[in-house]
Amino acid sequence: MLELKNTALLRTQSYVNGQWIDADSGETFAVTNPATGEVITRIANLGPAETRRAIEAADKAWPAWRKATAKERANVLRRWFHLIVDNVDDLAKILTAEQGKPLTEAKTEILYGANYIEWFSEEAKRIYGDVIAPPSNDKRIVVIKQSVGVACSITPWNFPSAMIARKMAPALAAGCPFIAKPASETPLSALALAVLAEEAGIPAGIFNVVAGKSAREIGAEMTSNSLVRKFTFTGSTAVGRLLQTQCADTIKKTSMELGGNAPFIVFDDADIDEAVKGAIICKYRNAGQTCVCANRIFVQEGVYDEFVEKFTAATKALKVGNGTDPDTQVGPLITSKAIKGVQELVDDALQKGAKATIGGTPHGLGECFYAPTVLTEVNAQMRLFKEEIFGPVAPLFKFSSEDEVIRMANDTEFGLASYFYSRDIGRIWRVAEALEYGMVGINEGIISNEMAPFGGIKESGLGREGSKYGLDDYLEIKYLCMGGV
Ligand code: ADP
Repeated sequence: MLELKNTALLRTQSYVNGQWIDADSGETFAVTNPATGEVITRIANLGPAETRRAIEAADKAWPAWRKATAKERANVLRRWFHLIVDNVDDLAKILTAEQGKPLTEAKTEILYGANYIEWFSEEAKRIYGDVIAPPSNDKRIVVIKQSVGVACSITPWNFPSAMIARKMAPALAAGCPFIAKPASETPLSALALAVLAEEAGIPAGIFNVVAGKSAREIGAEMTSNSLVRKFTFTGSTAVGRLLQTQCADTIKKTSMELGGNAPFIVFDDADIDEAVKGAIICKYRNAGQTCVCANRIFVQEGVYDEFVEKFTAATKALKVGNGTDPDTQVGPLITSKAIKGVQELVDDALQKGAKATIGGTPHGLGECFYAPTVLTEVNAQMRLFKEEIFGPVAPLFKFSSEDEVIRMANDTEFGLASYFYSRDIGRIWRVAEALEYGMVGINEGIISNEMAPFGGIKESGLGREGSKYGLDDYLEIKYLCMGGV
């Protein structure tokens, strides 16, 4: 049972235009705990009609919000940030219950998401324009930045709280109203954020949560409605491509944070113990279910055997369990379907000659648990070279030269995160510049924070979240030409 200090955080209705509402149809759907299979609660199942009303309400609320001063917007965002921090324990419990990750990781996620709200409350005051030299003396050229308009998001279940915070914070800071459609597996964290938004004094219509089972139908409304000027998505490249296509009809501004196939490269000159530590956290955080998790670990031949031995030992030491157990380091995967997908990738590799030094099967703890797995003798013909694993499986590739590993690392349509360990300063520059990725961790396995621009290139997406660049995705540039001076 979920025992919360602040029981008001657990909501079963959606939050639209400052009201808590049921579905028009009266329908509900179950939210289950992946660690136990238990139903946590049933919540209102909204659809496209309620989404349309949310969009219309957001559009009506927009003028007042965009006319508020940056400081006024900053102040409510900051209040929201403090409320989230004050409620972190309860929010983490809700997150772990619906998503499965260990409580410590859930807390880290809540605070990480809150940091974006704090950051963008500060950045709201730093939206600058330009004065540009004119072509003739009787003119002046001025550039101002204005909020794009109603922004809608669809977010996944792997970071049920932070993915919304990371999108909503720059939107609100820029002056855009926002409608979130959380993943149907994990809507409770989003609804809890809405409770605190209301308490913080975010005006009606400015932050809305539309929870529903059919992402396809809600997404169709969000991407086709001409009142929506900005659409932001985190999820797979396949779904992102579809949504980007749907947005094309009304030429919406989009941000897409899509799949990854992160290389994690360990060179002969690396500090191997540090590299093992970095790889463990990078690979097994959230049970391997992040788009920036190390997907392919490349180890240079001179240190391969040492790395395999130390990495396998560190993997063996990981405690698998229910996220509510304080010792747990690796929780369940989100669904039993996810287990099946991971097993297919492992079986494909094993059939093609890979060896498991540990794991290779589901974990006996329950139907959503997978044993942390290390595979050696892997090669580029195996599916896991090309596909996102999204589970606690670490394939260790052997390579000989810098050129070879850069070629292999870049041999993918994805370009989100990448990592490498080396102590050679020349190599560090060469490799960092050669990797075709939006982000490079150098002697670091965890790179995301609100001060840095998160995002991918190639088919990993468009736009950046966080940092001083993050507001640009929610702002339009307007050029004022003043004549007759
Ligand atoms: P994941 O495998 O991480 O769930 P998906 O890209 O399949 O990645 O899903 C990410 C989010 O997109 C989820 O919330 C899902 O419900 C939603 N989604 C999936 N298909 C569609 C679609 N056709 N239109 C809109 N949203 C979708």
